[in-house]
Amino acid sequence: MLDTWGMDSPHTQLPSKRILLVHAHPDDETIGNGATMAAYRAAGAAVTLVTCTRGEEGEVLVPALAHLAASEDDELGEYRVGELSRAMLHLGVSDHIFLGAPAHKYRDSGMIGTEPNNRPDCFWQADLEAVAAELVEIIRDRKPHVLITYDENGGYGHPDHIKAHLTAMRAAELAADPAFGVGEPWEISKIYWNAIPRSAIKKALVSKKVIRNIALKIFKYVPSKWITLPFVKPDSVITTAIDANAYLPQKLAALREHKTQLILNGDLFEFSKEMGIRVSGFEHYTCVKGLDQGSPARHAAKGPNWESDLFEGIDLAPLA
Ligand SMILES: [Zn+2]
Repeated sequence: MLDTWGMDSPHTQLPSKRILLVHAHPDDETIGNGATMAAYRAAGAAVTLVTCTRGEEGEVLVPALAHLAASEDDELGEYRVGELSRAMLHLGVSDHIFLGAPAHKYRDSGMIGTEPNNRPDCFWQADLEAVAAELVEIIRDRKPHVLITYDENGGYGHPDHIKAHLTAMRAAELAADPAFGVGEPWEISKIYWNAIPRSAIKKALVSKKVIRNIALKIFKYVPSKWITLPFVKPDSVITTAIDANAYLPQKLAALREHKTQLILNGDLFEFSKEMGIRVSGFEHYTCVKGLDQGSPARHAAKGPNWESDLFEGIDLAPLA
């Protein structure tokens, strides 16, 4: 029988390396971590994806599917569930679930300052302790060594990304607390926040004008300097670079499945004609818990002192 991770082994034998990702909407996982997920799955690690909402409020970029939008038929959420499933097939990730499953409890809250922020059923309005408790159940069941989520600003300030960050951080704390809830406590060894270093985005930009288009599209304004965009981080706060370039084809294939949300031209995210950001198989992180400061290899290294493995320094002793 296939287990949760699509492996032919009893559920009691957890794979020896386990990662949990907490994301806000379908497509965020592939944009931020698609190559990392594919690489670790190919290496036999357990990869669990928790998506908090179905992304009902997303903009529909395919004209033929425009009727799915929240302002029309409001059927985008269901459609994006399908996009996510197809994307995960490319990355080899079979353990992907929605927070609150089997119900779709939390609706996309829309961009900050918009009317959907106030809907009582949106994720932004949900009680933090209650949503964190739901994630604790998943953490105690899957027992991940590594958690990946967003920074305090949710990467770029979307309410659902901020709430996903808060939920993941609170759940990690509660899961380790023996006094909380039911089930055995589990302490996650390392916590990572997604990050894009300046040096990487400079390389990925096909034209600097593109940043203006991205800023207009996402933030509805153009910052005075593109390096002040919230998701662009100084290289000094990056701790970890995962070279999963061998899995770039899988990441691109998964991105193409999120077709209502993303327009890809070859390996370019296209924001307007011939302007884009080249999709990369190098993905970057800031480790905020459990960074192995003592790694001799990194101390000896010249240049960026970055980890190259999410599990660096973790004691991977089998479960008792
Ligand atoms: Zn998102």
